Amino acid sequence: MSGDNKVSDLLVIGGGINGCGIARDAVGRGLTVTLAEMNDLASATSSASTKLFHGGLRYLEYFEFRLVREALIERETLLRAMPHISWPMRFVLPYHADMRFEGDTPTSKLLSFVMPWMKGRRPAWLIRLGLFMYDTLGGRQILPSTSTVNLTHGPEGAPLNDKFSKAYEYSDCWIEDSRLVALNARDAVLRGATVLTRTKVVSADAADGIWTVTLQDTDTGATRTIRARMVVNAGGPWVGDILRQQIRSNSQDGVRLVRGSHIVTRRLFDHDKCYFFQGTDGRIMFAIPYETDFTLIGTTDQEHPDASVKPVCTPEEQQYMIDFVNGYLKEPISTDDIVWTYSGVRPLYDDGASSATAATRDYTLKLDDSAGAPALNIFGGKITTYRRLAESALDKIGERLDVKRGPWTAGVAMPGGDFPVGDVAKLIANLMTAYPFLNERWAKRLIRAYGTDARLMLGDATTPADLGQDFGGTLTAAEVDWLMEHEFACTAEDVLWRRSKLGLRQTDAAALDTYMAAARGKKKDIA
Ligand SMILES: Cc1cc2nc3c(=O)[nH]c(=O)nc-3n(C[C@H](O)[C@H](O)[C@H](O)COP(=O)(O)OP(=O)(O)OC[C@H]3O[C@@H](n4cnc5c(N)ncnc54)[C@H](O)[C@@H]3O)c2cc1C
Repeated sequence: MSGDNKVSDLLVIGGGINGCGIARDAVGRGLTVTLAEMNDLASATSSASTKLFHGGLRYLEYFEFRLVREALIERETLLRAMPHISWPMRFVLPYHADMRFEGDTPTSKLLSFVMPWMKGRRPAWLIRLGLFMYDTLGGRQILPSTSTVNLTHGPEGAPLNDKFSKAYEYSDCWIEDSRLVALNARDAVLRGATVLTRTKVVSADAADGIWTVTLQDTDTGATRTIRARMVVNAGGPWVGDILRQQIRSNSQDGVRLVRGSHIVTRRLFDHDKCYFFQGTDGRIMFAIPYETDFTLIGTTDQEHPDASVKPVCTPEEQQYMIDFVNGYLKEPISTDDIVWTYSGVRPLYDDGASSATAATRDYTLKLDDSAGAPALNIFGGKITTYRRLAESALDKIGERLDVKRGPWTAGVAMPGGDFPVGDVAKLIANLMTAYPFLNERWAKRLIRAYGTDARLMLGDATTPADLGQDFGGTLTAAEVDWLMEHEFACTAEDVLWRRSKLGLRQTDAAALDTYMAAARGKKKDIA
């Protein structure tokens, strides 16, 4: 086992959105930062979300006003910082008198008390009130406000059952979740942080107020130690295990693991808006245009007690989601229409809520000195609030370390995102002019993934052949090299399912793995 005698300020455990967001913010404030991720970046919950920067309309029913307001304001801050991987979307919420509450929301209880004849019902005026609050709580500048939609004509009503004649339409944003994580890690490294993937924190021992952390290379099994003044436990679903097994803290804080699954089907409708469907069981379901040719449907709320059990979308969850959307669609779909599923585990703070749906989605940060050196444990959170969570984490870190600079991340572009919101079409056209061999679909994919960095990636190529081996689906060696060099990709899965969704296309995963293994071998030889 080798060791490093230098003492860094922070060791961040976990390369999901929260770990990477905190690492980026901390290094930008002058702290020395190392981040260790046991698998690939975003290999757990942060690549399995519904991929929305949203306030969370349904959380209003739980009176989560702080969370909703923070998230609503944050949508536009984030959109401006990353207009390549995030974009505005309109959500169509069809209304029908059958709509029901989940029984134990505070709103449902209040309504049953003051208007007992409304018990369990979610009336239209309440939805309008919620949407009014959604429009006004968050100080919108870019996103359009709520409107009413007549479903009896026009594209929004076309795929829906005729019983739906009216809908409300509101705004939220899309975000490429796993790319967001990779770009935060990339930016952290550009600012001086060290990011280690395939590196597991196996133990953390405190002596004289300093942590000695043992890291294991998960490919080779080799271990080494590093020393740090403070540990940030951003282990997501593993936050509780890390507390008990690695940090060995006395903290009584607990995590509630709630699985959420999605199905991806063939494309179900011909417009670019999303649907927000309400069920008769009080739950909601999104149906979202996905990767041009598909529709993304989700999600579920299932208790998932053990983080070490890989979450999968069970046949029951698949059927539940199919039945849910079939309550709305004119042409019912079946499990035969599913082309892919994914599943993730929400690491929620255990607030003692009765149901998984009701457990708080807000974040909780806990400073803990019980093991002999400071640790900060991160519970809960949303992709949408990751930047604010990181700022709150830095406030807490400042209670133990000398953090000299204040908040800086609002208004600072992510790599490739240094252009105005709304200029994507211009960037695509300019890229096609500079590289005439790109068709529109290819150029759009590159701008939506890399923004202004797309040109750096393509370099001085004048033909597709200049980009090297072709793996199908417009993926070339030049792009793979970029992802390995700048975005920590190591395997075909990292490239096809997290840095992109080219796994949904005709790509040659075996050839890609061979290419990447050889490239990794060459890198090791040089080192
Ligand atoms: C179904 C679903 C839908 C969602 N939809 C949305 C949405 O639309 N919008 C939104 O804002 N939020 C959404 N969320 C919430 C959001 O995805 C999560 O809050 C967020 O991804 C959690 O990030 P994290 O960094 O805490 O955890 P993770 O992404 O799970 O990261 C934790 C990392 O720690 C690593 N790790 C664990 N133990 C160790 C160790 N010992 N050593 C090294 N590394 C370790 C893991 O490998 C993992 O990569 C959704 C969540 C789910 C499950």
